[in-house]
Amino acid sequence: MANIIVQKFGGTSVGTPERIMNVAKRIKRYHDQGDRVVVVVSAMGHSTDELIELAEQITKNPPKREMDMLLSTGEQVSVSLLAMALWEIGTPAQSFTGSQVKMITDGNFSNAKIETVDRSKIDGALDQGKVVIVAGFQGIDKEGNITTLGRGGSDTSAVALAAVLGAKECEIYTDVDGVYTADPRVVKQAQKHTQITYEEMLELASLGAGVLHSRSVELGMNYDVVIHVRSSFNDNPGTLVVSEDKIMEKLKVSGVTAKNDQARITIANVPDKPGLAAHLFGELSSRDIMVDVIVQSSPYNGRNTISFTIAKKDLGAAIPILESFAKSESAEKPEINESISIVSAVGVGMKSHVGVAAKMFQSLAESGINIEMISTSEIKISCVIPREHAETAVNRIHEAFQLSKNS
Ligand code: ASP
Ligand code: MG
Repeated sequence: MANIIVQKFGGTSVGTPERIMNVAKRIKRYHDQGDRVVVVVSAMGHSTDELIELAEQITKNPPKREMDMLLSTGEQVSVSLLAMALWEIGTPAQSFTGSQVKMITDGNFSNAKIETVDRSKIDGALDQGKVVIVAGFQGIDKEGNITTLGRGGSDTSAVALAAVLGAKECEIYTDVDGVYTADPRVVKQAQKHTQITYEEMLELASLGAGVLHSRSVELGMNYDVVIHVRSSFNDNPGTLVVSEDKIMEKLKVSGVTAKNDQARITIANVPDKPGLAAHLFGELSSRDIMVDVIVQSSPYNGRNTISFTIAKKDLGAAIPILESFAKSESAEKPEINESISIVSAVGVGMKSHVGVAAKMFQSLAESGINIEMISTSEIKISCVIPREHAETAVNRIHEAFQLSKNS
């Protein structure tokens, strides 16, 4: 049987009627070759943001079910327009909502997880020679409510479909032409990877290198779907996200990032006794506040200092929790620093090489940049540094690991 290919087009790629026509022409080329093509699209341009703004004009506290009902309409616009565009150029096509293809999710509105997909409708339309176009980002729970998968979730819809349909590869067409060693706007010499591992991609996604929805990478890893990140504006090959065993030469560092949306909180003079960290971080997590780097000093005179970072946007919700914690434990008043950056180096080769951290610290030292906090995982080293040095730091680390073009 013909190959099944799954292609996902992001909001920018379908941002205008003209771009929708261009996407249709690209899809037609594959269809004309005899491939069975399944397409997933996001909402046009910034229309999801616009829907959110619309809701905000009605209420600051929209019921989550109704919010998902609203946001799912963005993709219903783009799938139907794309199907029309294909018919217009002589290619039969049929669009489907998430509920029409039985994209069943749990009932966690605004962040639902896909549980099963029923391929029968999709196969039926493919058998009739049609291009199948599925609305990204949306599903339906067992009670029949419309759910959404979280911002950027169309990537996850696409990889889930690729897994269910047994496609070898899922192409993600976007406005960048691949995954780079660093943000090319910050590092002029950044290079595009031809391949990168799922693990590295997951770390990079959580560091704000916003190319792919994290859960799409997890699904790709679990179901062995190669994810091909490429540009919808040209035909250049992009970056393949693959399993580690497919990569011959594992880089010590494959990406350098700076995350500038975090604030650091320091609470000094916390009593050294069991349950304190559990108390503090338990309360933050019960308010859905994500904590990133955490450092606790060794006790001195029965007292500790705890420092950690959270997103700046969560400060408003966090401050009352921190203040009441400090008060009840008779610790110092929490100190907040919003001018920090978390600079990280990621690479699967770190698992088998020594000296990576030392080299990163050395390159910061040579630029006179003070490291305020350090945290590491098997494939990542992160340093909290003053925000004003973030760009320099990323460039220096990028050079130190010889990631630059012609180096
Ligand atoms: N339209 C949704 C969003 O803006 C989903 C997506 O683009 O993947 O988040
Ligand atoms: Mg996206």
